[in-house]
Amino acid sequence: MDRRRAGGSLADLRRANRDEAVRLLRLHGSMTQAQLARLSGLSHASVSNIVRDLTQEGTARVETQQHNGRRSAQVTLNPDSGLVVGVDFGNRHVRVAVADMLHNVLAEEYATLPHGHRSAESVQRALRIIAELVASGGRRMDEIKGMTVGLPGPIVEGSNRLGSPNILPGWADVDVAESFRKELRVPVVVDNDANLGAVAESLWGRGREVRNFAYLKLSTGIGAGLVIDGHLYRGSGGMAGEIGHTTIDEDGPLCRCGNRGCLETMAAAPALVSLLQGSHGPEFSLEDLLRLGAQGDIGCRRVIADAGRHIGVAVANLCNLLNPELIIVGGELALAGDVLLSAITDSLSRRAMSGAAQGTEVVTGALAERTAVLGAIAMALHDTESGGDGVRPRLVPVGSAAAR
Ligand SMILES: [Zn+2]
Repeated sequence: MDRRRAGGSLADLRRANRDEAVRLLRLHGSMTQAQLARLSGLSHASVSNIVRDLTQEGTARVETQQHNGRRSAQVTLNPDSGLVVGVDFGNRHVRVAVADMLHNVLAEEYATLPHGHRSAESVQRALRIIAELVASGGRRMDEIKGMTVGLPGPIVEGSNRLGSPNILPGWADVDVAESFRKELRVPVVVDNDANLGAVAESLWGRGREVRNFAYLKLSTGIGAGLVIDGHLYRGSGGMAGEIGHTTIDEDGPLCRCGNRGCLETMAAAPALVSLLQGSHGPEFSLEDLLRLGAQGDIGCRRVIADAGRHIGVAVANLCNLLNPELIIVGGELALAGDVLLSAITDSLSRRAMSGAAQGTEVVTGALAERTAVLGAIAMALHDTESGGDGVRPRLVPVGSAAAR
């Protein structure tokens, strides 16, 4: 079945089908003509015509590739047809990656930012890194087709702004997309880093072939990216997945959101670090917590396990609501490994309704500290043609070249 638009001419229809094929190739990196037909809903004959046109005009090419001993003709976009940029801002860092249309990351850089950094300086810093990375690959800035920026908090839908001024105070009320767009003049999408994590894990990580899962970002804050029935779910206003503000103790400590006893006040990195500063010294950091925890320090392991128990309560609530197949744990705290994971799993199995979490696996993510920036690349590959209107990506993984 071809996509027909009411009242559209045959030329419009051909154009729409071609654009859909290019969009899918951008999203997936490479695929066979049969996969392209299945995902686009177009007939094999239409796909064959589109691929012929795309190869003739130099937009795409067909290559024979070997996968698990089997040879297949893979359609890919021409890697020279453009670049996309992913940027991931955290409380103390920025990570930038530049990729081609085949999902190959050409260059990537990480830089630390001062605590409490402000948007104006940090955006300029990211722009300088982008220019350096593009030049280092022998490419030009005008080859950039689109970019996505990840921020550590919920983004109010359509605003490109953080939903809470308490997360990065130096970024309050800043249209981050516009800050980049006016310099680069390309479509820019801004999204929550937990959503980007879910997208990256869905395309290249543990979430491949999984239609219902949650990606948990455990770091300075705690957030979740939700993939429901193969789609990233943002909620009505872009605020879905704020699992860090699940109430664990109604009379607990005051949270930065204004409520009491949120999960973040008990299980986010600053809470864990402050618990140990009394016994381990005022300079004690998250890195110390992870290192000493791995070496068997009893206090550190206890704090990590307690955090896992609290996280498990929130995850149990999430499982009762959404019944996911998989919980993918990411963010710096995921480096705590088994101590954390087994505490989450224990708490989950005790708290969730029998059946809601039966078979729900809790695993660490596959992409580590690159998760958000790879998700930004994936989102930019998806969004370059939509003008950055934040269309929900359809997350159907196929054998892609994968980000390297
Ligand atoms: Zn809160």
